[in-house]
Amino acid sequence: SELLRIEDLSAAAEDKELLHGVSLEVSEGETHVVMGHNGAGKSTLGSVIMGSPEYKVTGGKLIFNGEDITALGADKRARLGIFLSFQNPIEIPGITLSDFLRNALEQVTGKHLKLWDFKKKLAAAMELLDMDSSYADRDLNVGFSGGEKKKAEILQLLILEPKLAILDETDSGLDVDAVKTVSKGIEEYKKRTNGALIVITHNTKILEALTVDKTHILSAGKIVSEGGAELVNEVIENGFEQFAGRE
Ligand code: ADP
Ligand code: MG
Ligand code: MG
Repeated sequence: SELLRIEDLSAAAEDKELLHGVSLEVSEGETHVVMGHNGAGKSTLGSVIMGSPEYKVTGGKLIFNGEDITALGADKRARLGIFLSFQNPIEIPGITLSDFLRNALEQVTGKHLKLWDFKKKLAAAMELLDMDSSYADRDLNVGFSGGEKKKAEILQLLILEPKLAILDETDSGLDVDAVKTVSKGIEEYKKRTNGALIVITHNTKILEALTVDKTHILSAGKIVSEGGAELVNEVIENGFEQFAGRE
């Protein structure tokens, strides 16, 4: 059933309109891909769905699970089950990966978790992602390689089990093995939760490993083309230029 409905959404930052009338519907269990050139507005769209205060909605609305969330803050949206991974993961000295995840899970669920239960859940998810258990006690992302940071993001997905996960360029800078591990983690998340995914990318490596339901091409803050998984292959073969001006 329908999970997210974006209706004619426009959004601005610093008085500059960056998204112009974007409409998109995502159902439970679906994987959507948003592609487009650098600067097309992909990260802006992800941030606006998450409710980042950096952007102001200037038109249209967002409906999540039947509820109008257009005016809700990011923390409330997280509690409803929306998750956004950042293009550039933050490093937090003094907070371990384990503490960070446990805190995030308690924030999202509003429940206190027994440390033992949490550690078991964490260890299982880390094993699935081929992450050495010592990472749990390291400061979040500090000194992590690009691939390790991405794995830490997917770890968050497996721990938080959101209803909708928006992954922003999770595949950038990953080698072939890391792409496999990350896509295995994503598939596991989908299998466990029947969650929906919006995968933002201008890179096609990870898409080969995922089952894609719908593809949306964004250009200058507008959706200029839509289709199924086959659209990804069209982009691989012919690039984005063919979609410019097709509205
Ligand atoms: P993409 O993720 O597709 O590369 P972005 O969403 O990051 O694109 O950016 C789209 C456009 O919006 C760019 O021109 C960018 O400079 C601009 N932009 C993004 N965020 C802001 C902001 N907070 N303030 C002003 N301009 C922004
Ligand atoms: Mg960019
Ligand atoms: Mg971006």
